[in-house]
Amino acid sequence: MSSSFAVRGMLAACALLFGAADAWAQGCMKCHGKGTLACTKHPKNAPQVESNVSFCSIVARCALCKGTLRLDCPDCHGKEEEEYKDVLAAQEKRIAEQLEFEKGIAGEPRGRCLTKHFDFTFEVEKLTVGREQLDQHQLLHLYADRIEKLHEMFNEMLGLRDGDHVCKRYRVMVWRNPLDNVEAQTRYTEGGSSGVGKKLLGARGVYTMCRDRNKEPQDDDLHRNLAHNIPHLFLASIFDGVWVGQFKAGWVDEGLSHWFEDKLFGQCTNFCYQEQNTNVSFRGGKWKTPVRGLAEDPKRPSFSETSNKTSDELTTPEHALAFSYVDYLLNLDGTKFPAMVKILKKKRPTREALQEAYGLTMFQFEEDWKKWVLATYSKR
Ligand SMILES: [Zn+2]
Ligand SMILES: [Zn+2]
Ligand SMILES: [Zn+2]
Ligand SMILES: [Zn+2]
Repeated sequence: MSSSFAVRGMLAACALLFGAADAWAQGCMKCHGKGTLACTKHPKNAPQVESNVSFCSIVARCALCKGTLRLDCPDCHGKEEEEYKDVLAAQEKRIAEQLEFEKGIAGEPRGRCLTKHFDFTFEVEKLTVGREQLDQHQLLHLYADRIEKLHEMFNEMLGLRDGDHVCKRYRVMVWRNPLDNVEAQTRYTEGGSSGVGKKLLGARGVYTMCRDRNKEPQDDDLHRNLAHNIPHLFLASIFDGVWVGQFKAGWVDEGLSHWFEDKLFGQCTNFCYQEQNTNVSFRGGKWKTPVRGLAEDPKRPSFSETSNKTSDELTTPEHALAFSYVDYLLNLDGTKFPAMVKILKKKRPTREALQEAYGLTMFQFEEDWKKWVLATYSKR
């Protein structure tokens, strides 16, 4: 004790000599001169858990630190104090936004976070991931990573950069209460409420869904739903905020979303129809083998037929074909794909887009695709 007082005395003398408050702070036994302390209301790994988000509504509920995970040291003015004041002020602003968001939405607790590219809400209470049961807070952070990964994959696959996305922060919401989903649809997707998933496609990208225990019983099913629907938001947002699926380029719109499902899960189970039909499926979702069968079938829908439909007009076998057309083009050269998309977004026909971006006629494309499918997809 006495030696500690002696040290403090010496430091006080130094502080007087050099006139530096920092030197005095070095002697603070509580914070070791930092000026802030760790908030004790959180588990030890909290800073690591929170490191993938810039805001998390669950930690923000801490009455002591407001989710900053730090507290102002009551004993000194250390070097982090000024920076901490700014962090706290920014956090208070985010908490005010959170309270605004929660208005009119029932139930507790609200799980929402901000990541680099998403404003993300996740309300499922628990799910088994691998062998571990995760709670809502753990899932919020896990799914935040997963949707960021989709963003990264999308850019990588198509050779795009963040600047190509008109939407700077996509809003994605996964609810457990159907009423919250209806409220979110009314608020963020320009009216209408279907009780299931709904998107706003364009310069503002929004997807809101209520988890259905029959349709998404497991973690994988829910993850796959997002892996299908979020790329729709990206594709519509890039370059100009135009959704190609409303023109006659549904095959690109749906094909690319199915491609992500297949890439991550080897299975496609999500279909977008205005009239949502929960029983839609095609050959159990494993499409490569049945597509191979279609490629050999002269009675299959022709590419010129399929490539002349909106997303909503595609039949289920056409969804599978669309997936495979995209699979082929990405395999051929993913970085040419955006050039094709740019032309389609100008409402020009697939024929011109394919020719200009890939140098292929419709006939050549279908012939080459068929050869590739027969050589690549397995018979069984
Ligand atoms: Zn201190
Ligand atoms: Zn958190
Ligand atoms: Zn705290
Ligand atoms: Zn879709």
